[in-house]
Amino acid sequence: MNRAERRRQAKATKKKPTGEEKTSPPRLDITRIKSQLQQAASPQEVQQFIGQLREHGLPQAGGEELIAYAAQYHEALAALNSDDKEASVAFLVNSAHAWADDRIDQSPDRNRRACKAGCAFCCYLPVVLVSAAEVVYLADWLRVNCTPEELAAVRSRLEARCEQGTTSLPDQKRLPCALLQDDTCMAYEARPFKCRGWNSVRLEACERAYGQSQATTKVPVDTFAFVMGNAVLNGLSDATQNAELDGGAYELNAALLRALDLPDATLRWRNGERLFDVGR
Ligand code: SF4
Repeated sequence: MNRAERRRQAKATKKKPTGEEKTSPPRLDITRIKSQLQQAASPQEVQQFIGQLREHGLPQAGGEELIAYAAQYHEALAALNSDDKEASVAFLVNSAHAWADDRIDQSPDRNRRACKAGCAFCCYLPVVLVSAAEVVYLADWLRVNCTPEELAAVRSRLEARCEQGTTSLPDQKRLPCALLQDDTCMAYEARPFKCRGWNSVRLEACERAYGQSQATTKVPVDTFAFVMGNAVLNGLSDATQNAELDGGAYELNAALLRALDLPDATLRWRNGERLFDVGR
């Protein structure tokens, strides 16, 4: 399914389901729902199933989330069937990022967002989680787009962050992401789903959170954008897992450093190796 088709399908979810779709009442059980979406043979089947769920209480936003998930799942599986294994990874992640951005842009709260270029409060944080596919893609992106000096600098920041250690404990202090350079993400185009979906709607809350521990700070975010970023990420991760590839989530610093250490990380991930389970 290409992006135009996915958009059409997302729009179609806003239509009311027909009487015919009311016939078989599904239970709102997420494991069963995901499995049924994965088995759907066409966008029309996805559409029909979500129409049935709506008839049984699924809210509008829930339907849009499932559409985003299913579209990504099926597109990722199709990309993983490509013979050109290395190129398919770039297509896989690029296309998933573009789909997530497209959905995130549809947020009813997009005009309330406080985020702007050069504002990097949210890039000071204890942990960034990334999928294995994103890590190998990000390492390739850095190799292509950075000068040798920039690459050396980012490696040294990654090493420093790994030595500092990162935990998700509540009192973990927020530290600058290793990809932050002059208060700008040096890999903005290739940044992870978690960063794409995180959009503050209150600048003062970001300022208060800056440098504080996770436990003491709460930042209100654009919820629709957050949910959509995660829905697309889940579609990608489930497809990679079902294709018997590593679909796990990893801490950015250690995983990216490992991917940069391995020039053939993309091909090795694509061949089913689990590259990021081991500590450095
Ligand atoms: S990857 Fe980029 S956007 Fe995400 S936390 Fe790091 S610097 Fe910020």
